Amino acid sequence: MNYQVSARKWRPMSFPDVIGQAHVVQTLVHAVEGKRVAHAYLFSGMRGVGKTTVARILAKAMNCHQGPTPTPCAECQSCVEIANGQSFDVMEIDGASNSGVDDVRSLRENIKIGPAKGARRVYIIDEVHMLTTNAFNALLKTLEEPPAHVIFIFATSELHKIPLTILSRCQHFTFRRIPVQTITDHLQHIVAQEAITISPRGLEITAKAADGSLRDALSLLDQIVAFAGQEVADHQIDTVLGNIPHELRREMFHAVVTRDPARALEVVWAVGDQGGDLHRFLGDLVEDVRSLIVLKISPKSLGRIDVSEGLNREAEEAVRTLTIDDLQRVFDILTQAQDHLKHTEFQNYVLEMAVIKVCQLAASESVSHMDMTNCAKDQITTSRTQTSLETPQAITRGQVSRTTKPSVATRPKSQRVTAPGFSRPIGSKAPVIPNDKKTTRMSTLTIDWTELVERVGVEKPNLATYLEAGVPVKVENGIILIAFSENRDMCREVMARDDNQQYVQNVCRSLCGSEVELKFVRLAKSSEPVKTIGELGQEKHKKQAQNLRDRTLDHPSVRMVLDEFGGQIQDVCEDRAQEGESQ
Ligand SMILES: [Zn+2]
Repeated sequence: MNYQVSARKWRPMSFPDVIGQAHVVQTLVHAVEGKRVAHAYLFSGMRGVGKTTVARILAKAMNCHQGPTPTPCAECQSCVEIANGQSFDVMEIDGASNSGVDDVRSLRENIKIGPAKGARRVYIIDEVHMLTTNAFNALLKTLEEPPAHVIFIFATSELHKIPLTILSRCQHFTFRRIPVQTITDHLQHIVAQEAITISPRGLEITAKAADGSLRDALSLLDQIVAFAGQEVADHQIDTVLGNIPHELRREMFHAVVTRDPARALEVVWAVGDQGGDLHRFLGDLVEDVRSLIVLKISPKSLGRIDVSEGLNREAEEAVRTLTIDDLQRVFDILTQAQDHLKHTEFQNYVLEMAVIKVCQLAASESVSHMDMTNCAKDQITTSRTQTSLETPQAITRGQVSRTTKPSVATRPKSQRVTAPGFSRPIGSKAPVIPNDKKTTRMSTLTIDWTELVERVGVEKPNLATYLEAGVPVKVENGIILIAFSENRDMCREVMARDDNQQYVQNVCRSLCGSEVELKFVRLAKSSEPVKTIGELGQEKHKKQAQNLRDRTLDHPSVRMVLDEFGGQIQDVCEDRAQEGESQ
């Protein structure tokens, strides 16, 4: 097979092909069109972002036999020779190996000769910052009185090393670091052409690893394909890039959001076990937290910062659950740990302590959140023991998450705010406490069974009728069991169809903000008859009418609100068959 490295094979040949430098390209195109091309250009920017590529295209544009034209033909002798690096009129000079004053002197002799075939002689001096001071001085004289047929294009990745005297005589363009998304899109285009199979996530981590350099991205792609062949699996990319598996980062996030130091420790150990670089892992976490802070401050920036695809859900959850203060403290702890890592031989200990601190910080900052979660948990427990008698009305996000919170379990019961009966967790709807108060800062999201059925009914009324025939009986490990009595088998079968199940799961997720799985099961014959929403609603309505006011006034959360904020209860009204309080 005639193998050519991707960076060379896919090097842009015309201005429109240049990736991610539209601001430079547009200016140059206008200059060529308007015959206002300067005598000296300085292209600065990190490696692999297209500086010499654009320089060559400009050389072609000036020397094309049909030009000067911003759209060189790519077919004439001049275009072909420049593309192959064989043109006498385009000199590419490596500043690093031609850095002395003698080199510049011979260059000055050389430029006196007019162009051989094209219109201009183009000198592309790469890594021009490597020139010695004397060489720069010699060059300066040429730049002061350049021959009309000469164009200089200097390229550098270290702009600060260019003397101001040189800089001021050049038209300067800054080449930008190329965004991850742009690189990803370009890689996608290439793998499609090359019949390479690689997942979107794989392309994204490759693009990220390239750190803004398109050339690096293409080199990495070559390495990956050399290692894995045409069918690339994500873990093979992780191996080539030396990445810590993405899953572990997600796990760590989940541990922080759910305040689970034990799980966080396991993640640290797993990174160590897999031979991962702890320093890099910590760096990844710092980057993630920084992204979250930016997201929190400016939700519009989602497209601008590099939150990776797989992390999005965790990121959204964290943005919703943690305050900017929380996140900044997490950031501080992690960056301090980064510092400590450099000076210790016990890197794993430093990281362990850091993640424990982060989880505990989050926990101590959100006591009220846990209380809210907890009161709903009590409800679920109650309804679980009376499976066929009552419909659990509220399933909190905390409850469906896969991780339990040890700190909740150890809290004395007397401190818990427990809502009786069917009430929603406080703060889930119609907040009675101002939002800026600490107690409602971490609001608890709720899946309300009735609300779920209603929401499904908006788009799919028929489906809602079937769903309504079941009752949620159990929540475990993120799975909600919905039971149907035997005489409603047909409803259960309809619900269990893939598309229907998926639809309801999606509605669930949009209600509670986390992944939920539904299972539709048949109630055993011996079970008590199941009461559906309609039946329960009637019973409840009767009961509620009698004791709504008493219960509300006696409600611990109402008392808590009154104690804390004063005021008195004027009216108690029903909120969609739920109790509601207003001051
Ligand atoms: Zn041409």
